[in-house]
Amino acid sequence: MNANAPNLSYWEYKSWFSNVDFTIVGSGITGLNCALRLRALHPSAKILIVERGNLPQGASTKNAGFACFGSLSELIADLNTHSEAKMLELV
Ligand SMILES: Cc1cc2nc3c(=O)[nH]c(=O)nc-3n(C[C@H](O)[C@H](O)[C@H](O)COP(=O)(O)OP(=O)(O)OC[C@H]3O[C@@H](n4cnc5c(N)ncnc54)[C@H](O)[C@@H]3O)c2cc1C
Repeated sequence: MNANAPNLSYWEYKSWFSNVDFTIVGSGITGLNCALRLRALHPSAKILIVERGNLPQGASTKNAGFACFGSLSELIADLNTHSEAKMLELV
């Protein structure tokens, strides 16, 4: 723990910050989805998610809520690396 770490009790440190198998930085949609995936792959792993704010501070709690799969120009660009069938499957 560095000098800026919160003043943790022995029990808090032992419970939350020791023997951690995976640490994820950021509790946005990417970090939480990563944690869920890790939990599925490693059911007994200790997974720590650290977030800089009291609440998530990034785009995940501020976005418009649309399920985006790409704009028309992105889909056309995908054709450079995907077959048409793969691109349509993504859509
Ligand atoms: C206004 C707006 C509208 C949007 N609308 C849509 C939409 O309609 N549909 C869509 O699909 N996408 C939309 N997006 C994009 C989408 O929200 C983002 O792509 C997505 O939320 C990114 O998720 P993320 O987990 O990668 O990042 P974030 O949600 O930004 O999460 C990163 C987290 O990491 C934390 N963090 C950063 N640095 C540290 C650190 N050093 N220590 C600890 N924690 C840290 C941050 O506080 C934050 O909580 C929108 C984005 C914005 C800004």
